[in-house]
Amino acid sequence: MVIVMKPGAPESAVAEVSEHLEALGYILHVSRGVGRTLIGAVGLPEIDKAATADSLRGHDWVEDVVLISKPYKFVSREYQAHDSVVDVAGLPVGGPGVVVMAGPCTVESEEQVDDVARQVAAAGATVLRGGAYKPSTSPYSFHGLGEPGLRILRGAADRHGLRVVTEVMDVRRVDEVARFADILQIGTRNMQNYDLLREVGQARKPVMLKRGMSAKYEEWLLAAEYIATQGNAQILLCERGIRTFETATRNTLDLNAVPMVKSLSHLPVVVDPSHGTGRRDLVAPMSLAAVAAGADALIVEVHPDPDHAVKDGQQSQTPGQFAAMMVLIARVAEAVGRRLLRPEPR
Ligand code: PEP
Ligand code: MN
Repeated sequence: MVIVMKPGAPESAVAEVSEHLEALGYILHVSRGVGRTLIGAVGLPEIDKAATADSLRGHDWVEDVVLISKPYKFVSREYQAHDSVVDVAGLPVGGPGVVVMAGPCTVESEEQVDDVARQVAAAGATVLRGGAYKPSTSPYSFHGLGEPGLRILRGAADRHGLRVVTEVMDVRRVDEVARFADILQIGTRNMQNYDLLREVGQARKPVMLKRGMSAKYEEWLLAAEYIATQGNAQILLCERGIRTFETATRNTLDLNAVPMVKSLSHLPVVVDPSHGTGRRDLVAPMSLAAVAAGADALIVEVHPDPDHAVKDGQQSQTPGQFAAMMVLIARVAEAVGRRLLRPEPR
């Protein structure tokens, strides 16, 4: 059950409601958002909750009490019926528009990133992607340029009118990455790093939470709930492919996730067909399918010279392939009643 306090409710009213609930045996999670406090109360059977909810609805400072049957609360559709729109430095993700994020897997050099940023912006991307801190299955792989990589991304994005999405892997680096990024990416390997989820939940930046490669929808949404309980509701869910018995593709891109997760949650859904397939030739068809299925955004790897990329070259499109795909994405978006959001003219 979530108790929504009225805007401006004084601490004394929050304490009064909290003490009442605690006395009844509930475990509370108070989240103080901008202008509004929410009290999540869990622990008693549904039948008792209904009676408690009725009694709280009469309180002067309680705006609403929402009964939620799912284990995740704030991110559930039951909690909020309308679609969330996440504000990425003025760019709406989750509204009628479709957003495309593109760029290299890894920041290699200023020249490489600037070249890609210029070309993906010209083709209609609005967010630049690229890893400065890279998770790797092997300890012998390249782990990214670190802070200089963040500077390179920010500079190129600013020159070409793009926002920045980049991964943060370490609780100690959230502030540093947030200084350069517009979206903090949590990678598949960190979906259940609960300390990191709490830490980005404290940040005042949108978070893109990639689905763990073996995570069920419920586990993914509970991971999002960790972020939300810290007061950060600016969350994007990213389907990036899961482990299945199929080995012909790097992962199996689960497009069921788009309509299914959107029915369970109000959060926008992003699809990553690059990691989802691991093959450059499959990225365009699966991108089109994702938009047709209702994805709010795509994140795609693009490299000026994929065959010599430091990481993930096999799944990176050339700028030319990306531009050709964008023409089709705009058409599919229109066919399903949406529109590709393009960079604002500069
Ligand atoms: C990436 O976006 O480059 C990445 C490492 O993704 P994932 O966490 O989905 O493997
Ligand atoms: Mn990659």
